[in-house]
Amino acid sequence: MATLTLTSVKKSFGPTEVIHGVDIDIAEGEFIVIVGPSGCGKSTLLRMVAGLETVSGGTIAIDGRTVNDVEPMDRDIAMVFQNYALYPHMSVFENMAYGLKIAKTPKAEIDARVAVAAKMLQLEPYLQRKPRELSGGQRQRVAMGRAIVRKPSVFLFDEPLSNLDAKLRVQMRLEIKALQKELGITSLYVTHDQVEAMTLADRMIVMNAGRADQIGTPLDVYENPATEFVAGFIGSPA
Ligand code: ADP
Ligand code: MG
Repeated sequence: MATLTLTSVKKSFGPTEVIHGVDIDIAEGEFIVIVGPSGCGKSTLLRMVAGLETVSGGTIAIDGRTVNDVEPMDRDIAMVFQNYALYPHMSVFENMAYGLKIAKTPKAEIDARVAVAAKMLQLEPYLQRKPRELSGGQRQRVAMGRAIVRKPSVFLFDEPLSNLDAKLRVQMRLEIKALQKELGITSLYVTHDQVEAMTLADRMIVMNAGRADQIGTPLDVYENPATEFVAGFIGSPA
């Protein structure tokens, strides 16, 4: 578990600034959801935390340590993407074990961690199957499993459910929340879906064109929207 602190974080692509100074303070074990329309900068912000994009201004700190110049692999972070590309030629077990193998984790430890994750995610019967032999929800669970086995201090999710149908999305939402609470891993979750944000968040951040318009509990945001943008966005259909 760890804290995650963003201070005046900015991002420019060439001459164009797309993130204009965002401050976020995430407590240990907290589940924060960033919600906002397409193009407002959610993925860019997450990618900076993951180390997949450089930071143009400000600092990102994990447990008080500035990580701006730390390589992605050394940030103790795991990320679950929207297009959670599984390795098609590998079994479920191998998909979950792969990152640990790369990190030279001893085989007994890999087996133990995969076993625990597979049990949590109800993937035990499928460990020898290939991704193409799984349903959408099961594939999503494998992507989660791949992240969990690394025992990260911070979880990042970028619209992990947006490729699933509506019913499965609701089910997986509940599973993600339960799992996050069980593991207590500090999490930053991005979505354009305000209902998803309201359901999942301990606190949510409403993003508007590269700025955080409001940070608060779902109830705070719902009852006291800070700007007209927030009021319009939260009130609109998903
Ligand atoms: P969101 O995830 O909220 O849909 P993004 O973070 O993907 O938004 O994009 C925010 C803004 O940054 C958009 O205007 C997008 O066009 C721009 N952007 C994102 N990535 C790049 C890039 N690699 N080069 C130039 N502009 C980019
Ligand atoms: Mg995005």
